[in-house]
Amino acid sequence: MKFTTKAIHIGQKPDKETGAVIPPIYMTSTYMQEAPSQHKGYDYTRAGNPNFSNLEETLAALENGKFATVFSSGLGAVTGLVSLLKHGDKVAAVNDIYGGTYRIFNRVFVNFGIEFINVDTANLSAVEEVMKQKPKMFFLESPTNPLLKISDIEAICKIAHKYDVKVVVDNTFATPYFQNPLDLGADFVMHSTTKYIGGHSDVIGGVVITNDSEMKEKLDFGRMAIGLNPSPFDNWLTSRGLKTLGLRMEQHAKNALEFSNFLKNHPLTEKVFYPGLSEHPNHEIAKKQMKGFSGIVSVEFKLSLEETKKLISSLKIFTLAESLGGIESLVDHPASMTHASIPKEEREKIGLKDGLVRFSCGIEEHEDLINDIENALKVFSK
Ligand SMILES: *Cc1c(COP(=O)(O)O)cnc(C)c1O
Repeated sequence: MKFTTKAIHIGQKPDKETGAVIPPIYMTSTYMQEAPSQHKGYDYTRAGNPNFSNLEETLAALENGKFATVFSSGLGAVTGLVSLLKHGDKVAAVNDIYGGTYRIFNRVFVNFGIEFINVDTANLSAVEEVMKQKPKMFFLESPTNPLLKISDIEAICKIAHKYDVKVVVDNTFATPYFQNPLDLGADFVMHSTTKYIGGHSDVIGGVVITNDSEMKEKLDFGRMAIGLNPSPFDNWLTSRGLKTLGLRMEQHAKNALEFSNFLKNHPLTEKVFYPGLSEHPNHEIAKKQMKGFSGIVSVEFKLSLEETKKLISSLKIFTLAESLGGIESLVDHPASMTHASIPKEEREKIGLKDGLVRFSCGIEEHEDLINDIENALKVFSK
């Protein structure tokens, strides 16, 4: 079965009881038992709910995986993964990791004895040196947020497996439509389903997908024991959004490419970051492991910090807001918004300048997105 057919049919069978074509929302905290411990597979919604199971089935299928566990958020999914570890374990990660993941390791899990190490994944021998320290897990993101760096997922998984390190790929930016890390050797794929998978900026959620049944059991246990469960309604909304993921991603990627091509030739542009441009330093690896390059474009302008802030506040179609991956276009200033939790020295070390602007190209018509930035830039043209 092809991607969009799977997205519409797997885990989304008509309701057996009533024939409702779309599975209903099971807003219930608990379930009737015929006799103590005799039930139909569900006993309490913190532990499970049909809306979780439906979405898990669809997401596992779309990532070419066997099992999925849904969580309350992307960071809930990270917490679920950390529940597989214990005091004294090390976790290594790409140095350009999502700000919230950086923060949860450095400010929360460090207090529970989990050591967090960062490495530049462009340097495979540095990656191997880190693997020799035997971290339990390696967190990879490709493309990264907001610099859109690409790591060679297959090569890194090979190195990790030599040292028995499990690889987690945060696939939020690429989505299962454009990239399937399990096929490239990853042990776990995670998503913030808040972004492209939900796709409509109306729900927060997360998921971990794996082929390992023992890990699936432990993730379900961690979710239940810690209380990392999502709401049934949120999962129903996510299932609704997921059906059009393929169609949306085609339009996001087309818009991002048109937008990048316009900006790379604009006199006020210093640098455009988009893995779909042939001048992107990792374009060849991106082409090898991705079917498309998604909808995020980051840009440095030849403007002062104050001018940059003025520019992004004056856009009419791009809304200034955190988050990304929704149908509407959003613009973000990482240094003061999404990535403010990373200290300035750390940000500069990885190349995240204070003037960088991140655009999440929505599914509007690309001409309107280009007009919006073109008009906003006119104010600064000399
Ligand atoms: C947003 C995001 C997260 C965190 O997800 P939440 O749903 O906000 O908790 C994790 N990783 C990436 C790449 C993200 O963009």
